[in-house]
Amino acid sequence: MEYSPVRQYVSPDKVRSLLPPFFKASYAQHDCTELARNLLDLIEVDAKKRDQPAQYNLTQKWFEGKTVKETICQTCNTKTERSENFVDLSVNFGKENNLEAMIVDSLADEVLNDEDNLFFCDTCDCKVPSAVRAHRVVSSPHYLLVTLNRFYYDKASQSMSKIMTNVDVPLRLEVPSAYKLKSVVIHAGKSAGYGHYYAAGVEQGKWRLFNDFKVSDIASPKPQESMNIDQPQLDFADQ
Ligand SMILES: [Zn+2]
Repeated sequence: MEYSPVRQYVSPDKVRSLLPPFFKASYAQHDCTELARNLLDLIEVDAKKRDQPAQYNLTQKWFEGKTVKETICQTCNTKTERSENFVDLSVNFGKENNLEAMIVDSLADEVLNDEDNLFFCDTCDCKVPSAVRAHRVVSSPHYLLVTLNRFYYDKASQSMSKIMTNVDVPLRLEVPSAYKLKSVVIHAGKSAGYGHYYAAGVEQGKWRLFNDFKVSDIASPKPQESMNIDQPQLDFADQ
């Protein structure tokens, strides 16, 4: 794609035409994390179709990290390790509304003693009443994608809802490794079912807002100040 000499923006038609039919239904709303995962898969499939080995495993090379879950059964003290690859780090809202604290929180030890999440211990050969699980990032990706879990199922209204709390997004992260903020995808609107996505990103050292056909400079060195009425949902950072 090339920048048009007349327009400031790049039409996403070509990218859209490559997406699976699921994304093309008119007026359908999709989650930006889902779209990001699908785009990364498409790049992989396309590289293989064109027989471009240099572009194989791009997702794995640039976006994939690895975590290890270490679970200790409180009945027999057996330690079980399970590793998992991740392309984006999902963080939940808790006491703190600071992205770094939220990441630390999502990696904190958890006690599995709820009826819904009891741990099955192979040594005890049953679900045990209590187990302690630690999460460790053993391999940090070059580009870190963080998803803020803003959307949740609200039992009272029996529908999906959105957490509207603002989150302090620092320009630099120190966990799980050292990263610089490169871009933020923002969901505007109060509903979990619809709304509007736009993005802020660094281009040639300057922060810009990309909102449909409008591209504008952000005067503040802190991009978040330009978006404090809306909510960042997905952040990209560059190691
Ligand atoms: Zn056990």
